[in-house]
Amino acid sequence: MNEYKHILTAVDLTEESHLVAQRACALQRANANAKLSCLHVIEPLSLAYGGDIPMDLSNIQEQIQETAKLHLAEFAKTLNIQTQDQHLIFGRPETEIHTLANQIGADLIVVGSHGRHGLALLLGSTANGVLHGAPCDVLAVRVGN
Ligand code: AMP
Repeated sequence: MNEYKHILTAVDLTEESHLVAQRACALQRANANAKLSCLHVIEPLSLAYGGDIPMDLSNIQEQIQETAKLHLAEFAKTLNIQTQDQHLIFGRPETEIHTLANQIGADLIVVGSHGRHGLALLLGSTANGVLHGAPCDVLAVRVGN
């Protein structure tokens, strides 16, 4: 069987991200030290709330971005992922995960089965969305239950 060459792990930066990361690292080692990249997607407040909140959300959005940047860098450090392979992108998680996987030529995407959105579902909504139309293999690491 062909080895994976470039693994993309998408993390929501919750506690469970470490379980997802451990599996991605194990796969990296098992595949002759494949390249490992990580991605966190920031969902714009305007997408979530649209015009429902009559106030300027840009300051809050900036703070969210700064915090996410720090957390992603800390997280990536534990995985030995270089700065250029750490991706912080605005948008909808499943769409951005697909787009980045295409851009960097990932041949495996690793996500958690459940995260913030999907606790009540059999398979979290992002994991489910990533499976549909994925440009490569997808592994949903079982977390949460
Ligand atoms: P959920 O859809 O919230 O149940 O999340 C399931 C999995 O999708 C998480 O464990 C992550 O691997 C991935 N995921 C969810 N939200 C994001 C996000 N904002 N950025 C990157 N990956 C995410």
